[in-house]
This record gives sequence, structure tokens and C-alpha cells, in this order.
Amino acid sequence: MLAHTSTKLNLKHLKNKKAMALSDCIQCWDTPCTCGWDYKDWDGKTLSKHIADITQYRTKKEAEFIISWAASYVRNHKNWTDKPKE
Ligand SMILES: [Zn+2]
Repeated sequence: MLAHTSTKLNLKHLKNKKAMALSDCIQCWDTPCTCGWDYKDWDGKTLSKHIADITQYRTKKEAEFIISWAASYVRNHKNWTDKPKE
């Protein structure tokens, strides 16, 4: 009986944890964040490695294309300015 109660408590704890969704981004509410807010304080090297890492299930050629396309996307779209977003 005690074990059963304990299981219930554990499930309740997990549900509460999910409801709180501590990993949701406070800006876009996506998990993982898709707007960049959660990564805004990462240093450039760590963020670059993360971006590269998420292409690692592609071929090397595809990964290089995706990353160069991402660079041109940054260059050509107005979401990015010379000043960091507040
Ligand atoms: Zn976000």
C-alpha cells in the first residue's frame, strides 16, 4: 500500500513538473526554444557547436550546406541587426 501511494505521489510530482514545464522558453514557449532566447547568453563557441551538433545526423555535405544557408539567411533577413535584441 505504501509503495502504491509512493507511485501516485511520484506520478503527481512528474505531472506537476510537466505542468510547470521549466524548460519552456519564456519568449516562444517552445521546448526546446525555437526563437533563440534560451541561447542568448551562450558564448559564441558553445552556440556554434550546438548548431553544428544538430546537423550531425545529416551527411557532412548536407550539414555544410545547411550551415552556409543559415549564414546567408542571417545576412539577408532583417531579424538580425548590428545591435543585440533587448
Ligand atoms: Zn524561445
